Amino acid sequence: MNVRQSGIGMTSRRTRLRMVERLRAQGIRDEAVLAVMGEVPRHIFVDEALASRAYEDIALPLGFGQTISSPRTVARMTELARAGGTLDKVLEIGTGCGYQTAILGKLAKQVYSMERIAALVRKVRRRLREAGVSNVHLRHGDGHAGMPEVAPFDAIVMTAAAARAPDALLGQLQVGGRMILPMTSGNEQHLYLIERTGKGCVERRMDPVVFVPLLPGVG
Ligand code: SAH
Repeated sequence: MNVRQSGIGMTSRRTRLRMVERLRAQGIRDEAVLAVMGEVPRHIFVDEALASRAYEDIALPLGFGQTISSPRTVARMTELARAGGTLDKVLEIGTGCGYQTAILGKLAKQVYSMERIAALVRKVRRRLREAGVSNVHLRHGDGHAGMPEVAPFDAIVMTAAAARAPDALLGQLQVGGRMILPMTSGNEQHLYLIERTGKGCVERRMDPVVFVPLLPGVG
């Protein structure tokens, strides 16, 4: 393990465990999620100049006008996706820095992640290799369409906001599956949990959040 991976000072395992304690205090209950967040070196997913701030509970700049979700948001979305069970196939829309992707990779059998900005896909491919995550399939493309050829998914985690869940994505959820996404209504944004049942979809509004918008096409 090189210095960047093992971390020193503000990027050490101790710093990571303090982050986990904070997440616990903030109400994250899923021990499996807390355990992987204690393991995965978040600092290798942010630009080196920001590494010392990687474990703070803030959203960081990602470049390209995008933002990296805070540890709390990542933990919450992952906890909702797992719902206390196991994850087989997961789809993520909006790979971004790849940290949420890596956390999902540690908890699910297979993760498929779509990102519209090609330069981010290249960076994340390198970072996941560095973090030893090998069950993630990255795809450069517009996440509105999802990945019908791989569907159905147990869970879909979308990390960019829309007025509503794209129909194509809801159609790729397996019965009993869950989609977690930020939805915008007027000036407000909330996290939503949508569960696909045998009869249709049941939607539940959760915490207020701030995400960048889901954009059309590729960048
Ligand atoms: N979970 C990521 C969030 C990054 S911000 C992180 O913590 O780093 C949202 C990401 O969604 C950005 O990288 C943006 O480029 C991407 N995105 C926006 N619209 C998209 C679309 N239609 N398809 C795929 N990715 C999209």
